[in-house]
Amino acid sequence: MRNRMIQLSQNEIPRQWYNIVADFPNPPEPVLHPGTGKPVGPDDLKPLFPMALIEQEVSTQRFIPIPEEVLDALTLWRPTPLFRAYNLEKALGTQSKIYYKYEGVSPAGSHKPNTAVAQAYYNKKEGIKKLTTETGAGQWGSALSLAGSLFGLDIKVFMVKVSYEQKPYRRLLMETWGGNVTPSPSTETEAGRKVLEKDPNSTGSLGIAISEAVEVAAMNPDTNYSLGSVLNHVLLHQTIIGEEARLQMEMAGDYPDVIIASCGGGSNFAGISFPFLRDKFHGRDMRVIAVEPTACPTLTKGKYAYDFGDTVGLTPLVKMYTLGHNFVPAGIHAGGLRYHGDSALVSQLYHEGQIEAMALEQRDIFEGAVLFARHEGIVPAPESAHSVQAAILEAKKADEEGKSKTILFNLSGHGHFDLAAYEQFFKGEIQDSTLKEEELSKFLAELPPVAM
Ligand SMILES: *Cc1c(COP(=O)(O)O)cnc(C)c1O
Repeated sequence: MRNRMIQLSQNEIPRQWYNIVADFPNPPEPVLHPGTGKPVGPDDLKPLFPMALIEQEVSTQRFIPIPEEVLDALTLWRPTPLFRAYNLEKALGTQSKIYYKYEGVSPAGSHKPNTAVAQAYYNKKEGIKKLTTETGAGQWGSALSLAGSLFGLDIKVFMVKVSYEQKPYRRLLMETWGGNVTPSPSTETEAGRKVLEKDPNSTGSLGIAISEAVEVAAMNPDTNYSLGSVLNHVLLHQTIIGEEARLQMEMAGDYPDVIIASCGGGSNFAGISFPFLRDKFHGRDMRVIAVEPTACPTLTKGKYAYDFGDTVGLTPLVKMYTLGHNFVPAGIHAGGLRYHGDSALVSQLYHEGQIEAMALEQRDIFEGAVLFARHEGIVPAPESAHSVQAAILEAKKADEEGKSKTILFNLSGHGHFDLAAYEQFFKGEIQDSTLKEEELSKFLAELPPVAM
């Protein structure tokens, strides 16, 4: 019997998150206050986040202990399995070895509960009663609703309207865990009303939904805001993925030459890759690839500049790859990859040449996903299908070059709530939607002026 599933026991679960900032080749760029243009301090973030998370956001400590209560919640689904994709390798006839870490075993079906339970824990501990947030495909909203139910917090979710309409089951999942879901843009907030005035048919975007959630949190003292990606503390919480994967690769007697993950805001990418990147900073040779849709090509086509995290301009200014905060991507099925910006840490690593990026078309990622499902069994989420297809392309490329690589990718979630998208693919109705240069330059012209 081949050792296909490489699994840790629960007492082997890593007890620390890895903070990549401690090993960053250059210090991170400061985050700026939208009004003053000066670096933001803890006081600016206090209306939205608990102190423990603000401290993690700016921490330079290499390893941060995971609280016992958070570990206890994580063990509902962790450690997650690492698989050797023997069947896929055979189907491709590749010389390379392909491994994947599977985060779809969480109750919400993706990696997102890893940070949701940590955020719920710290907010509860500091006396917060309610969290607001945004969600695209519904993955983050369901993860936070689950965490809210585990830690006793009310959860209010602004869900991007196009997904709210395409994915009723995700809404019901959130409601099952006690979450309260509103389609965004809504008339419940100043930010939502402003967008609807300009465009009554707006299908929404993550940027707009963030504006709405931040507004509600800023106006209520017992309410905080929670973000499912992008921020340093979110990426930190996801590093448990890579910390586990390091141990599992060691058990397999292998080490990855290439690490691949889909990249929306950058959290599952950071989760799998940051714990390995510390070896790269110490001289180990490896390639790390972030994969995005051609409809929202933040790293491959965006500009490295200061921009708002939301559409209305309420959030601090972050130096990141951005398509412009007014950019609203096509309604592709990988809803979790439709964000206009990217994590500051991932952006800086890309800018400094430590990581690579590639953009893939919708039809291609579904082709990879179906091939994967028919050989490995698991039906990938459309977001995760980007990493599946990229791994397939990398294996083929290595074969063409006559090389054998060890490829590790993050299968960030399952696609059980995305079968309508698969149906469209089978009917040949999936449209490729590459962002046009003219459109992009229009949005980039609207970047805020920052003298840095
Ligand atoms: C949200 C999501 C993503 C993209 O978000 P990141 O923060 O970039 O990880 C990828 N895959 C799945 C399954 C998701 O739910």
